[in-house]
Amino acid sequence: MDATAFAAYAAAQLADIAAILARHGPGGGACCACGRPDPCPHAETLLRHRAHYRRCLAQAGYPPPPRAD
Ligand SMILES: [Zn+2]
Repeated sequence: MDATAFAAYAAAQLADIAAILARHGPGGGACCACGRPDPCPHAETLLRHRAHYRRCLAQAGYPPPPRAD
């Protein structure tokens, strides 16, 4: 995968992550909006993946895609 293909892949991953993260967040009480206990392990994994792809894009010299969060 060349740098251009990777940038497109990373941008697509970031869009998917943003869409999934929209279903998580404060849900009231001690639960995430997805129903898992807060802090939500799924959301934390998604946030780690988001940071990874953002870091990869920055290191490759690509501007970060528009934030969707
Ligand atoms: Zn959740």
